[in-house]
Amino acid sequence: MSVHPTIAAFTADGNCLAVGGVPIDRLAERIGSTPFFAYDRRMMTDRVSYLRSILPPEIHLHYAVKANPMPAVVQHMAGLVDGCDVASAMEMKVVLDTPTSPEHISFAGPGKTAGELAQAIAAGVTIEMESANEAQRIVEIGNRLGIRPRVALRVNPDFQIKGSGMRMGGGPQQFGVDADQVPDLLKQIVAADLEFLGFHIFAGSQNLHADILCEAQNKTVELLLDLADRSPSQVSYLNLGGGFGIPYFDKDRPLDLAPLGENIAKLIDTAIRPRLPHCRVVMEFGRYLVGEAGIYASRVIDRKVSRGRTYLVVDGGLHHQLAASGNFGQVIRRNYPMVVANKMDATDLETVTVVGCLCTPLDTLGDNVSLARADVGDMIVLFQAGAYGLTASPTAFLGHPMPAEVLV
Ligand SMILES: *Cc1c(COP(=O)(O)O)cnc(C)c1O
Repeated sequence: MSVHPTIAAFTADGNCLAVGGVPIDRLAERIGSTPFFAYDRRMMTDRVSYLRSILPPEIHLHYAVKANPMPAVVQHMAGLVDGCDVASAMEMKVVLDTPTSPEHISFAGPGKTAGELAQAIAAGVTIEMESANEAQRIVEIGNRLGIRPRVALRVNPDFQIKGSGMRMGGGPQQFGVDADQVPDLLKQIVAADLEFLGFHIFAGSQNLHADILCEAQNKTVELLLDLADRSPSQVSYLNLGGGFGIPYFDKDRPLDLAPLGENIAKLIDTAIRPRLPHCRVVMEFGRYLVGEAGIYASRVIDRKVSRGRTYLVVDGGLHHQLAASGNFGQVIRRNYPMVVANKMDATDLETVTVVGCLCTPLDTLGDNVSLARADVGDMIVLFQAGAYGLTASPTAFLGHPMPAEVLV
């Protein structure tokens, strides 16, 4: 069996998996407790450089903070990318604490409250408007504060993207304004004297198919240029979304970036630049930048055999890493890549079921996985924990302590 590409990307120090060059047993001692999340800053840096080497230089890279909002991670990412996308006032606060200029922060998401909108307007970030009502509220709050809000319009496209783990555009959606309603709304926005910058389309997440993503890019650019032509004011910002996926499961192949880079370069040269020569073109990524750089480590606290099946019970669980249990939007439960992190060289493998410490059968982290023979005290590491991990998990469920999070 070939080693999963994400496991292969981490080095081992003798028998021990290493994160950021620090062996996991030593890291556990440094942290003082398990379970914990550890993120490798060099892997994040390398991923941004790699993406930049493939995408044309005109693309402004944004980090989608909801993937991993740990302040140290956001601080690190802020130094690498050209801007950040936030989806709440809390995320906005974390980014505003970094050197990122407010102009390069965009705030998207349905259901922004009046309080959040006021904070965003006062901060001077770009608000990605998701409805006509929201536009109206932004006008009112801008008037009250005496500040001209900076806005862009999130468009719900008239096409859908196949093959995405989560679809967030096309058909009826809570996200964005339907493409056919955009021209009318634009007239109102310009009449109300909002500082209108441009458009945003984010149609789907976790896509591993370069051909489908290229087609989505083509349709996105075609639609946005058509809307730009009909805009009563100059368009200076186009956010083309992202949606690049990472290989979670054994059968997943990593995304082939080369055709995507070529396609986007062609779109810029032949479609965008001739019509909008000075427009800032943004693409936004969350999991692609940080997902593979993070691990979730827990310790085996029990080993038991029930009717022929061997269970390893760890001190972590779905309350910290919900996605690995298959309960974060997945249709079919599949195992995330995992290892016994202090027995990387072991040759005596066995098939086990790894469960968390919660009193529910949902808390299964690895179902019939082949691992080095593990005993109480050994460390189980789950990969692909750098995005949608801790903050996408029900940490209050069963009242266990919060895990540590470290950036190494
Ligand atoms: C969640 C989200 C992203 C990031 O998605 P990833 O799959 O993590 O890359 C980007 N843009 C918007 C608008 C989002 O809501």
